[in-house]
Amino acid sequence: RVWNFSAGPAALPEEVLRQAAEEMLDWHGAGMGVMEMSHRGKEFVSIAEAAEADLRELMAVPDNYKVLFMQGGAIGENAIIPLNLMGSKGRADYVLTGSWSVKSRKEALRYGDVHVAATSEASGYTTVPPMESWQLSPDPAYLFTCTNETIGGLEYPFEVDLARIGRAEVPVVADVSSHILSRPVDVSKYGLLFGGAQKNIGPAGLTIVVVRDDLLGQAAPHCPSAFDYKTVAEAGSMYNTPPTYAIYIAGLVFQWLKRQGGVAGIERRNIAKAELLYGFLDGCEFYETRVDASCRSRMNVTFFLRDESLNDAFLAAAKEAGLAQLKGHKSVGGMRASIYNAMPLEGVQALVDFMRDFAARKG
Ligand code: PLP
Repeated sequence: RVWNFSAGPAALPEEVLRQAAEEMLDWHGAGMGVMEMSHRGKEFVSIAEAAEADLRELMAVPDNYKVLFMQGGAIGENAIIPLNLMGSKGRADYVLTGSWSVKSRKEALRYGDVHVAATSEASGYTTVPPMESWQLSPDPAYLFTCTNETIGGLEYPFEVDLARIGRAEVPVVADVSSHILSRPVDVSKYGLLFGGAQKNIGPAGLTIVVVRDDLLGQAAPHCPSAFDYKTVAEAGSMYNTPPTYAIYIAGLVFQWLKRQGGVAGIERRNIAKAELLYGFLDGCEFYETRVDASCRSRMNVTFFLRDESLNDAFLAAAKEAGLAQLKGHKSVGGMRASIYNAMPLEGVQALVDFMRDFAARKG
């Protein structure tokens, strides 16, 4: 296997893939694989319940929050959230920090008024506007943030806590697709957290939503039933057939994560990985980074070769060395190494060794 730096779908822990392969034809003596089971049968219900319980434990989700296993991806949630939460207020606030939050705002405009509470557009989305500078509207239904911008490689260096600016009454929504479970988050500070599974959790097709109870039951009349949080919550995420296999793999990943010491344990590894890679980048003239050092993402490391005419040669040599999917997103250019939970320090070391060697040969 290669070291896979894809932004998502992304590398999964090898232990998880091996276990899934072993259980593919016969899950725990059921005589069938998980993909073939009824979602209402006792075997699959036990898998889904364990996955939810483990996720709750890992994220320390308070009892007054529902954990929903949905479909439609994070882009689907960009519509599902306003459909559920705009309510009679008809307005929401958005903080813009890069491609994903900009896209989320655009989608929300289809469902109500949107006010931009803060934007780092002027810096080319290389900074996160400090919370003290956010200008919230008088009575928004919610405030939307994307706390890790996967494309730009930007991560909030602080926990969003509107109590600090005297607006604790506004529910905070956060797109945590690309850093969920990579660091501790105080769920109680948020109204809703959501993310696609295909980076830190498992296969594409599963969307995780963690939502506070008081935000349920306000969906617009035209909100599809399958996307009404209250309907989904009341049916235990089984209003319609859930993405069963993706939930099963997610459950194996949650168990793997618990064996790594949970979120606190994996965070220590993630810090070590990010320090290794950014430390190398800062010390090598051949490469440059553009995101402000205070808000560099631990998960998605974006960097550039100073001589961009060498980009193709870099990617070809990296592939040759067993380092895959390093090309940056087309809107940003350059390179991006996504180093999610499943990427071991060894993989980041292999990347740094390769980059040092490439710079020595071409610099
Ligand atoms: N939001 C963020 C932060 C992402 O990284 C992605 C990645 O694909 C998305 C939204 C879109 O997710 P999906 O393709 O699952 O809809």
